[in-house]
Amino acid sequence: MNFSDKSILVTGGAGFIGSHLCAKLISLGAKISVIDNFNDFYDPEIKRRNIQSLLSSGNFGLKEGDIRDSDFLDTVFTDHFDAVVHLAAMAGVRPSIQDPQLYNDVNIVGTTHLLEQCRRKDIKKFVFGSSSSVYGINSKVPFSEDDNISRTISPYAATKLAGEAICHTYHHLYGLSIVCLRFFTVYGPRQRPEMAIHKFMRLIHSGEAVPMFGDGGSRRDYTYVADIVDGIAGSIEFECDYEIFNLGGSRTVTLSELIEKIEQAIGTKASIRRLPDQPGDVPVTYADISKAAKLLGYHPNYPLEKGLTNMADWFLKNITK
Ligand code: NAD
Repeated sequence: MNFSDKSILVTGGAGFIGSHLCAKLISLGAKISVIDNFNDFYDPEIKRRNIQSLLSSGNFGLKEGDIRDSDFLDTVFTDHFDAVVHLAAMAGVRPSIQDPQLYNDVNIVGTTHLLEQCRRKDIKKFVFGSSSSVYGINSKVPFSEDDNISRTISPYAATKLAGEAICHTYHHLYGLSIVCLRFFTVYGPRQRPEMAIHKFMRLIHSGEAVPMFGDGGSRRDYTYVADIVDGIAGSIEFECDYEIFNLGGSRTVTLSELIEKIEQAIGTKASIRRLPDQPGDVPVTYADISKAAKLLGYHPNYPLEKGLTNMADWFLKNITK
């Protein structure tokens, strides 16, 4: 991949996935602008640290502001972009149940504002960070892009599904080339602190009990962040009308197995606190990645053990900071 002379806007670029993506695209020659509002969903200082090493690059620019603010977006879009990668969102299933309106505002209204800017400024390529949660209580595994996805079970999932629908609408009406990427639980260095693997490492390391919701048999498909970033980069270059791709690891582990693997990665035994199932959590996620493999050349390189070892190295180095 060669992004020389390409100017790319990454929304949510100070976040977990966004900051890895920016580093990768800069290393491939791209000029990156980031929109981020550094909200306090988790400590904004973490987000500032995520992009600290990029700030000195001549190919990195930060536009601090909110995607719900169209006046702010007007100022950002005075620059020309070859592509927009839209990752800014309120993420997370459980908090969306507490504040569905906020999720609607950021994830649906914010996404519409960005598509409007792309339409007005004739920006041809839009990549939307969607989620495996759109599959909801889909009982057919692995999940394929053609499956029926009308049965979402959380406000977060519903906003991502709405985002995909708005993307399709802008493609249909205005000819934007749009790729929607359904990420399956992403992990690795800098993972959001409230997400399971990061939280479990923190709890196990400090000797606190790990909450295990349900019987430990729920299954997840985990994807290492470097694999996700490769998939996103491939999708920026992919010429298409409107396409949806799963980006996952395409293998599942149970919650119990995951906790055992985290114990091995950080070298400490966990104590477990059993709790009932959480509303909004799906029983299984499992990605069929054959479409992404065929059209994007997406081939995940990190088995869970290798990814957890990398993440544990990062975690243990940074735990005291
Ligand atoms: P993150 O919270 O670390 O990153 C999102 C970034 O967007 C943050 O830096 C945040 O400050 C910014 N942001 C939020 N609201 C904003 C607003 N109104 N205006 C401007 N910036 C705003 O999350 P992440 O884990 O890196 O996720 C990135 C994207 O991928 C999100 O769209 C998320 O829904 C999606 N996703 C993530 C996962 C995962 O496992 N991490 C799985 C599926 C989908």
